[in-house]
Amino acid sequence: MVERPASAVKELVENSIDAEATSITIEIENGGLSRIRVTDNGAGMSADDALLAFERHATSKINGADDLDAISTLGFRGEALASIAAVSKIRLETVRRGFSEGIFVQLEAGSLVSQGIIGRPSGTSIDVEELFYNTPARLKYMKSPQAESSRIKDVVDRFVLGYPCLSFRYINAGKQILYSPGTGRLDEAIVAVYGHEAAGKMLFVEYEWQGVKVSGYIGLPEMARANRTFQTFFVNGRYVRSPILSRALEEAFSTLVMVNRFPMCIINLELDPHCVDVNVHPAKIEVRFVDERKIAAVLFHAVKRALSSGGLLGKDEHKVDLPISVGDGHVEQSPIVDGTNGTTQRASFDSLPYHQEKFLQRANVHETPDSYDSLFMRVIGILFSTYLLVEKADQLCIIDQHAAHERILYERYMSILQNQSLQLQYLASPLVLEMSVQERQLIAENIELLRSMGFEIEEFGTESYVLRAVPTLFGQPQAESLLKDIIDGMKEFDRNSPYDYRREAVMMLACRSAIKANDYLSEMQAAKLADEILSGAVPPTCPHGRPIVHVITKHELEKMFKRVQ
Ligand code: ADP
Ligand code: MG
Repeated sequence: MVERPASAVKELVENSIDAEATSITIEIENGGLSRIRVTDNGAGMSADDALLAFERHATSKINGADDLDAISTLGFRGEALASIAAVSKIRLETVRRGFSEGIFVQLEAGSLVSQGIIGRPSGTSIDVEELFYNTPARLKYMKSPQAESSRIKDVVDRFVLGYPCLSFRYINAGKQILYSPGTGRLDEAIVAVYGHEAAGKMLFVEYEWQGVKVSGYIGLPEMARANRTFQTFFVNGRYVRSPILSRALEEAFSTLVMVNRFPMCIINLELDPHCVDVNVHPAKIEVRFVDERKIAAVLFHAVKRALSSGGLLGKDEHKVDLPISVGDGHVEQSPIVDGTNGTTQRASFDSLPYHQEKFLQRANVHETPDSYDSLFMRVIGILFSTYLLVEKADQLCIIDQHAAHERILYERYMSILQNQSLQLQYLASPLVLEMSVQERQLIAENIELLRSMGFEIEEFGTESYVLRAVPTLFGQPQAESLLKDIIDGMKEFDRNSPYDYRREAVMMLACRSAIKANDYLSEMQAAKLADEILSGAVPPTCPHGRPIVHVITKHELEKMFKRVQ
């Protein structure tokens, strides 16, 4: 069934692709309601086939039972042309490859009105005029022409991104909106759809694991959008929408984009066709995977790796400061500068309110060009007891002290967990903790997780647990309430999640133990915190995705005060 102009476009283009076209032109007028014309340079049809094409179930595409199992062509229901013809005035022109003469066929509301011989280049063109002219009820159901053409554009975009080997031209009301060269390069297809600037902010993804191949591009965190329209997934070449794939992508970005912002991507997944079920939805847009968890995990890791390695699409054109430590929790060593006198020194957060231990072990200072840059950093002061104001080169950086510290703690803890270099601090006198039945059950279920996070805890009698050690990152005074917080949080854990199950716990720890708004910071502490953040050693958002830094450039200030135009 053809619901709207966009679905007609989709069917027509799929037929062109099935006919092995390499160049396809889509023209529309009035949101496709007045006209849709799809012209291709494909195989064309014989005169008999051209007449048959409008019969229902006229498909030439199913040859045997095996075909039904692993269908390789896009259309296989054999009724798209018939249903489009039934609700429009349609003209088909087709010439077989190697011929210069062929046939045209014209139908109105599904009835043949004329046919004849024509000469034209080989290939097929199908011209659909006045869609739904004889079905007023359906016509009334249409949105504005603008809304319909925007749906058509989405459909065309998907073809362009899904078939970089094919050249597409899209013309709306006589104006060329899009052209893709069909060179087979996905990056060129991306430029055709999203433009040069956006394409420069994409990361290359390539990963393979146990027969599942992931390739494509993801947008940098700043490219995240307010909805999922810009998430494009193909499974074995077929465009799909999949909550499972979206979720895996979003999980991989989770601490980098804000809540309710959605990372963008163009991702191809290739796997054994027998491990995918494409038949669940008549529009063939949804998929079901035999092993969902595996697919989700592979995609998740592919995206994580891409984010941490940062191979940019636009080569050197756009140098983007990518979070260094996203993927594996690895924190780059960078020099720490004491903002008061400009000398580099060993950093330590020893005197920060909630941290006693040697939690920042950054020894050797490297003399890199970057470190000269940061010599020009100066903390001006702390605004509203919450925001550090920092002058850095020709920028005013405003840093949220809680968000900043939270991110630093998160990265550090993740990195320690991953390197398994967790240090425990044994309590002078072990704490005996009374627990409710529910809490005891949660501890029992998660005892390994708690131990792996550095809480040495064991059963003590029937109703209590004894806590002997805590991770050195977090001081003793908070040990008990911290553990209780984690246990509370565990109620919400999804232990079946294919993602790193410790992340939630670490986020909670980081948030719980970071300095808060209104906490007092000394000048020294403020300078160290600012440097940690501005050196680019950690991602520029807190683990919940809120921004840490807001930058106002000198130029912006000059504009503000009308010193410059
Ligand atoms: P299906 O694609 O499911 O076979 P359609 O109604 O979409 O059914 O098309 C009917 C038939 O018309 C196709 O099987 C194909 O043989 C022929 N056909 C349609 N469009 C083209 C085209 N652009 N080039 C060549 N053959 C085409
Ligand atoms: Mg078809």
